[in-house]
Amino acid sequence: MLSRSVRGTRDILPEDVPLWRFVEEKARGFFSCYGYREIRTPILEYVDLFVRSLGESTDIVEKQMFVIERGEDSLVLRPEGTAGVVRAYCEHRLDVNDPVQRFFYVGPMFRGERPQKGRLRQFHQIGLELFNVASPLGELEIIEALVGFLNVIGLSGYTVKINSLGCEKDKLRLSDQLRSLLQGRKDDLCSVCRDRLERNVLRILDCKNEQCQSVVRSLGVLDSYLCPDCKEHYEKVKSFLSHFKVKFVEDPFLVRGLDYYSRTVFELTHPSLGEGQDTFAAGGRYDWLVNEISGGKMDIPSIGFAIGVERLLIALAGSEKKKDMHNHFDVAVLYFPGLEIEAFSLAREIRKNGIRVLMDLTGRSIKSQMRWANRLGTRWVLILGEEEVKEENVKLKDMRQGDEIFIGMGEVVQKLRNMLREKGEGLWLRGEKSNG
Ligand code: ATP
Ligand code: MG
Repeated sequence: MLSRSVRGTRDILPEDVPLWRFVEEKARGFFSCYGYREIRTPILEYVDLFVRSLGESTDIVEKQMFVIERGEDSLVLRPEGTAGVVRAYCEHRLDVNDPVQRFFYVGPMFRGERPQKGRLRQFHQIGLELFNVASPLGELEIIEALVGFLNVIGLSGYTVKINSLGCEKDKLRLSDQLRSLLQGRKDDLCSVCRDRLERNVLRILDCKNEQCQSVVRSLGVLDSYLCPDCKEHYEKVKSFLSHFKVKFVEDPFLVRGLDYYSRTVFELTHPSLGEGQDTFAAGGRYDWLVNEISGGKMDIPSIGFAIGVERLLIALAGSEKKKDMHNHFDVAVLYFPGLEIEAFSLAREIRKNGIRVLMDLTGRSIKSQMRWANRLGTRWVLILGEEEVKEENVKLKDMRQGDEIFIGMGEVVQKLRNMLREKGEGLWLRGEKSNG
């Protein structure tokens, strides 16, 4: 089966790439306005990094890691982005000049899951991490930025869910409470969750099994387990969000899939994604993770989130923004037989100026070149015949309006530049694309 990709992986084909780039570039640009700088960490990390930070009884560590044994080393294809960023922050002592640091990342993550819609073995995340902010302003900045980004790319119809797990002690109180509530329902839980009851009861809240979900939903209202500090923190988070009109709902059974979270956790869901994988972005506070990874050397309360890009794109499908993506070329050069050298020179000259131009290389007739240009959806075509070559000019046709003019060879580039500027399109080279 040489012509089949690995189960749970996907090719991103050229027709989809503009949409990916649109989302990634908007994210890079938008989050840079908040001071987030891009960081690129390796895809390979040591297994222990994730076992220690995500927690031994999480889905990821229990059954989803792609582990590679190589000599003495146990390596893993990173299943998520935060642990690697935290490792880099500790390893390079990025706290030394200013412990408050903001990082943006984008890249592939790997989890051995059963592939289905919105659930892949290689998928992509865009994430932010904000280090050394203990105040609820951290939650405000990060959630407001996330929602602002979604607005910029034109996504609507999602729900922001939030909850607070509290500090270590609160999490223990919450766990005790859940354990005693669930003890009586033990027989209704899946075998994994029965085991989790003792080992890590919070994980039961995140179980994908429908039966376990319904047991959890039937537990009713929990007694408050937040200490005064954590309660005050959570109230502040909610009031900040309300002040900035970020709509959210509280979900008392929301925990994230990883053990490192404390205090605030949040998730964004979209109805177009379907049961079980309707979360397209998730995050929370991880006040003890830096301490854990630095071996107790650094105490840096932090917070972050990750967006699942594939799920985001499913949620975004059908929006207006998506339809704008598909203009591949500005111009096509059409030419009569025997003029390929002249056509190639013309195309070359235009390209050097950052304009996207295509010429036919298969030697088809001028009529089928015209049909081909139509299919490509180019806005203009340049038509080169014997006459034109002799006169040193070329026919320029506007494919939408249908009008044709002759222009001198030497003026083609300037003319195209001007027309592209009028359309607000700008050029593709030398950073001119965005400012036209
Ligand atoms: P889920 O509960 O759906 O399994 P998760 O709790 O494992 O998600 P996180 O580890 O919080 O997810 O990752 C953040 C986001 O990354 C998710 O909200 C989702 O959009 C995306 N994501 C996670 N796992 C996958 C996957 N296997 N395929 C595609 N996207 C994924
Ligand atoms: Mg998962």
